[in-house]
Amino acid sequence: MTCSGCHTFFPIHFPLCRLCWTSLQAPPPIVPPLAPFISIHARYLLTDPRYRIIREWKKNGGYLLKRAILRDLQAPEVDAIIPIPQDFFRAWRRHGSRTWECAKALHAPIIDALVRTDKTPQAQKTSLFDRISNPPRFKLKDIKLPKRILLVDDIMTTGSTLQAAASALTAYELHAFVLGIRPQQRYEPPKTHVLDHRDQTAPKAPEV
Ligand SMILES: [Zn+2]
Repeated sequence: MTCSGCHTFFPIHFPLCRLCWTSLQAPPPIVPPLAPFISIHARYLLTDPRYRIIREWKKNGGYLLKRAILRDLQAPEVDAIIPIPQDFFRAWRRHGSRTWECAKALHAPIIDALVRTDKTPQAQKTSLFDRISNPPRFKLKDIKLPKRILLVDDIMTTGSTLQAAASALTAYELHAFVLGIRPQQRYEPPKTHVLDHRDQTAPKAPEV
C-alpha cells in the first residue's frame, strides 16, 4: 500500500510511513492569542508532510489514519465543547464531520449549539481572498450553556471562522482547539480586471 502522507510505497498495512508517522510526533505549536479567545490550542503545525496527512484524512477519512492523528490531544479544562458546524453538503460528501471526530477525542461534554447561516457555500470559496471577504456566519441555538466553552475546528488558516463563531457566543469564557494550524500565508488582493488566472474567459485589462 502507499503512505497517506507522502504516497511512497511501503509493504506494511498501516496508513503512514515511518517519516510521516514521526512528523506527527512533533510537539504542538504555540499559537499567539487571538481576540476574543482566552487561549487557542493547536495539535499540529501544518507544514508538509503533516498538511498532506491531515488533508487526506479530512477529505477521505479512514479509521487507522484517524487513530494516528487523534492520539494524545490536549485541551484546557472547560465545561463544554462546541464543534464548529460544517457546510451540510461538505459534511455529507465526506461522510461526516472531522471536527466532530476531533471534539469526541477531547473528553468533555459536546453541545451542538451553533447553526451555520452562510450566504456563500464554503465549497465556492476557492481563494484566501474569498474566505477573508466572506467569513461564515453562525447563530446560537436556544440552548442554555455553561460558562467555559471550548470551540473546536479542524484546520485554522486565518482564524476568521473561529472569530465568526465566537461573535455568536459573546457572553461566555471562550477557548479554542484546532487540530492543525496553517502557517501564515501572504495575502494578495485579486488584480483588477482579471477574475482568475485559470479562467480564460475573464475580461482582459484595457490597454493604455
Ligand atoms: Zn509517508
